[in-house]
Amino acid sequence: MDYQRNIEGFYQRPDYEEITGICDGGLPGIRFKQEVYAARHTQVIPAQMADTVWKLAEKELRYPQEACLYLHIPFCNLRCTYCGFYKDKAEENVIAEYSRRLIREISLWQEQGVFRKRSVKAVFFGGGTPSVLSPSQITQILKEINNKASLADDCEVTFESSIFDMDEEKFEACLKGGVNRFSFGIQTFDTNLRRSIGRPDTQETILKKLELFAHSNARIIIDLIYGLPKQTLQQLLHDLQIALRIGVSGLDLYKLQILPGSALGKSIAGKREGYGFTTVQLANMFVRAAQFLQEKGSSRLSCCHWAMTSTEESRYNTMVKRGADIIACGCGCGGGLGPYKFMKLPGIMPYMQAIDQNRVPVMAFHKQSEAYRLLDALNGQADRGILDFKKLEMVHPIPLERLLEPVLEKWIRQGLLVKRDQLYDMTQEGAFWYRNLARVLLIMTESALFGEMTDEEKADGSKGMAMAQMKNMK
Ligand code: SF4
Repeated sequence: MDYQRNIEGFYQRPDYEEITGICDGGLPGIRFKQEVYAARHTQVIPAQMADTVWKLAEKELRYPQEACLYLHIPFCNLRCTYCGFYKDKAEENVIAEYSRRLIREISLWQEQGVFRKRSVKAVFFGGGTPSVLSPSQITQILKEINNKASLADDCEVTFESSIFDMDEEKFEACLKGGVNRFSFGIQTFDTNLRRSIGRPDTQETILKKLELFAHSNARIIIDLIYGLPKQTLQQLLHDLQIALRIGVSGLDLYKLQILPGSALGKSIAGKREGYGFTTVQLANMFVRAAQFLQEKGSSRLSCCHWAMTSTEESRYNTMVKRGADIIACGCGCGGGLGPYKFMKLPGIMPYMQAIDQNRVPVMAFHKQSEAYRLLDALNGQADRGILDFKKLEMVHPIPLERLLEPVLEKWIRQGLLVKRDQLYDMTQEGAFWYRNLARVLLIMTESALFGEMTDEEKADGSKGMAMAQMKNMK
């Protein structure tokens, strides 16, 4: 394979400078052309072929095979202004019916043998918000998982939820069922700012809960957001100080995503509300926050996650980003076994009907290209903010470092990467732009492997986009 010749097309693109980043006034004022990345050489397989796909996926298993188990709870009692996630009003009877089907789905996966040769290293409850479940529903679901899924002895079991409807009884039910990690969407501790985004509880209320929960043996993780309308850098730094003071084990820091379908997105588009941040200001906020966390001794585990204790490893997210098998239970979520990624049926009713017919409710499969392990590993490294080309070469024999060298050198000059022995570390500025860097690296790697895109592939790009949305990624 003439990789060098293949990748030349990328270097000769007329938009080469824009796509790899133009930095004319020093960091953080860099700008990237927004290029959509859709995995190439994928193949759509209809849901009717599910039995064949499950068998093929088992055949391609490598040992020891580690996997994640994801449980999707598509309900929420809140209406955050920025939320664009699919969610349904939390009607008690519907939640009860749905939980029953979720339990049945764990059995269906077991009956088709998926747990036989896999060790589940991470379980993750996400949504919506799983805190809408009652203590007894939590207990039943966890009991089924413990009985049917092959959990590793050191399995990380995360319950990610809003803190609004989490109470002591639910927390206890989680602990008793084996949850050892809680991830609470706090977003900000500032009461006024919280209320402006649709979060009713006050700083005092959430601090009381967090301090209480922090006394358990479980790891407590919180999510914070920067770039909230009218948020100041001081407010953000104050949020970080509070997090450190109450002793959380880990912290995610996300940039506010303004989704067009959300109340906030509509209000900004309709000019009913202004949004005052430029990208440079947002980058500055992130870099200041990241520096603050580093000064306080936190370790950056990925470009948006920090650990405050040695026990925190954010295993589920790390495994998902590097393409681990995901056994996904629930409606409207995505999973994957080996090269076969799948999307579950959206909509609670069709999901429940399929379960009642004893089927794992898949909407469609995508088989990834033969280079999927390399692409997944590269994506995982970019998410972590550390590129290790020697390791990538062990996954797939391609001289990637040499092929990407002009771009890696450019990013070093721009201050986005630093070279440390055989590794390339993203700087804090690089970490702010990591999604752009990851996209460029993936596009370039596929150029080296497959050459220039054909017209047919360009027209087909939306298929890959749909798959990109299937991952249960934060
Ligand atoms: S708590 Fe999460 S799912 Fe619920 S409205 Fe807010 S962002 Fe959306």
